Amino acid sequence: MVQKAIQEINKTVSQKWSIMEICGGQTHAFMQYGLNEMLPEEINLIHGPGCPVCVTSLELVDKAIAIASHKDVIFTSYGDMLRVPGSEGDLFSVRAAGGDVRVVYSPIEALKIAVNNPDKQVVFFGIGFETTAPANAISVIKAHERGLDNYSMLVSHVRVPPAIHAILGSPNNKVQGFLAAGHVCAIMGIDEYKPIAEKYGVPISVTGFEPLDLLLGILQTVQMLEKGQFQVKNAYPRVVRDEGNLQAKKFISKAFIECDRQWRGIGLIPMSGWKLRKEYQSFDAEFRFNVENIQTKESEICISGLILQGQKKPYECPAFRSICTPQNPLGATMVSSEGACAAYYRYGKDLNGQ
Ligand code: SF4
Repeated sequence: MVQKAIQEINKTVSQKWSIMEICGGQTHAFMQYGLNEMLPEEINLIHGPGCPVCVTSLELVDKAIAIASHKDVIFTSYGDMLRVPGSEGDLFSVRAAGGDVRVVYSPIEALKIAVNNPDKQVVFFGIGFETTAPANAISVIKAHERGLDNYSMLVSHVRVPPAIHAILGSPNNKVQGFLAAGHVCAIMGIDEYKPIAEKYGVPISVTGFEPLDLLLGILQTVQMLEKGQFQVKNAYPRVVRDEGNLQAKKFISKAFIECDRQWRGIGLIPMSGWKLRKEYQSFDAEFRFNVENIQTKESEICISGLILQGQKKPYECPAFRSICTPQNPLGATMVSSEGACAAYYRYGKDLNGQ
């Protein structure tokens, strides 16, 4: 089936096209299965900024480190975030120095820790795109309902559509078509993408994560590009409904409101984030802890910002594979299981074809 899809793409493509897969999970799948090497050379895959660990701002990472260093705090987070470099050190270094930093698999687990440790302040690092927002929203709503005063969240939510606007509106943009992230659309639906396709004249295909899903997304995008169609099509109908998950969206809008958000390596993207609504402000860790005056210092070597914007490939970074490795990451894109640098390190080639 994969070979048939590749043949179909070969038959359809007549010129060079640059297509961005927005999600880091899709980048990893392309590399892991070698699909990038099976595609015709006319198709240039550009890797997008859809890795929540990679784009969580340095300021928020530093705030997480400052909060986790408080002696009465249990700081909880997904595992990847513990190794993301802050200005000085990471969350692992807080743990090594005696801080109580724990890996959890959901905010509900963090909530349980708060219930079981009433004499501690429990903070959850609420990172992620639209996919993690419903569970994060539910944890805050539940904490509010139970009157828990020792649970809070350091919110770092980002949203995909404003990022696509920023990429397509950039004077350096090279992207001609998009693979939208199927899991994000499973939550939010596809309506937000239609005005983007029309405004910028780009086709968007909602795409899943298995090899065949990815190739069908590419095929659908190339078919639209070749015909000059700028629509949003769903190549992942077994998971994504046009309207998304209405119940999940209800929880998100109950707890969160849109806000401007800093993206690491990219900068401020207007209305590209969510923050807690005023009625839940007391559950906002930035509000609960005084972490306003954080001075950040980014690595001078790391070019992850250019990689996240699709302007460079990881192997074009002089530190790639030499001083920057998954064991010793200089930037977040080398840490995360969805980061482009980590994907090239595990599955890809460097400039010498090695
Ligand atoms: S290889 Fe390392 S230093 Fe270079 S861009 Fe990627 S994360 Fe940054």
